[in-house]
Amino acid sequence: MPSYIDLHVHTTASDGSDMPKQVVEKASQLGLRAVGITDHDTIQGVTEASEAGSRLGVEVVPGVEISCQWQRKSIHLLGYYFDPTNPGITRLLEGMRRGRTERLPKMLAKLRRLGIDIDQEEVEAEVCGEAIGRPHLAQVMLRKGYVSSFEEAFDKYLGYGRPAYAQRPRPTIAEGIRTILDASGLPIVAHPLTIKASLEELLIALCPLGLQGIEHLYPYKFVAGRREEWYEGVPRRLAQIKQLADQYDLVLSGGSDYHGAIEGKAPLGSAQVPYEVLQRLQDRYQELFGHLPSACTA
Ligand code: AMP
Ligand code: ZN
Ligand code: FE
Ligand code: FE
Repeated sequence: MPSYIDLHVHTTASDGSDMPKQVVEKASQLGLRAVGITDHDTIQGVTEASEAGSRLGVEVVPGVEISCQWQRKSIHLLGYYFDPTNPGITRLLEGMRRGRTERLPKMLAKLRRLGIDIDQEEVEAEVCGEAIGRPHLAQVMLRKGYVSSFEEAFDKYLGYGRPAYAQRPRPTIAEGIRTILDASGLPIVAHPLTIKASLEELLIALCPLGLQGIEHLYPYKFVAGRREEWYEGVPRRLAQIKQLADQYDLVLSGGSDYHGAIEGKAPLGSAQVPYEVLQRLQDRYQELFGHLPSACTA
């Protein structure tokens, strides 16, 4: 029987609803061999997850997810195995978290003008970790009855271009990739099929910057939900990712983007990523940096 892993997971350190150790416990119950902790703009959850991982025999891959900018589009960049003490990436992540904190009052002011009255403290009460996100705000809106679903909070108010949307500063994709590489990490583009650009155009821009991999296995069907027409093109584009990864010498990655019990998010392990994917990631790390990643217990 093949062993499976999940390399894209959020915890309470950012906007997931499971604590890092709970994620690892669930991974263990599901028989997953490895789990990648990729919270938004923080590595706060990695230590707790690693401790649980050593106890339960689940390999924990340290990582992060950073929203970057490319041609006015948002590109989510995953970074694996970087040195957590590196000043460059530490500074970048701190700045991103500050941007999140400073964005919240702006969104609350916009909501108030729309008749939605939420205090900063109410949102902060939802946050366990150090990265405040729109999902925390959406939960409060849902609980207070301003919306009838989590999705509605984004569709009507918080999504890009919606009336309570507020931008936060984002690094360029070049800066994101460079910062991860300089911290001895592997930069990998997340859920590429959610980016409104041709894959080839994207890779022509990102590969010369040092991109090392592309997320391939991802629960697109789940994410598409009722938008069946959107999902139609996905299998063909996934085949294209494989072909382009070969052509551009990128490693293929995969994960579920699990967020715990947050509505509309895919279950842990649902991307069905074989363990070999992680071995190839580690091989690439070794090629680039001359040794296996230190967190690697294999
Ligand atoms: P933020 O990190 O605050 O910019 O919020 C982005 C996060 O919100 C994503 O990582 C998702 O977890 C969630 N999100 C973004 N758009 C949507 C949407 N349309 N529906 C549900 N969740 C969303
Ligand atoms: Zn998220
Ligand atoms: Fe993402
Ligand atoms: Fe994510």
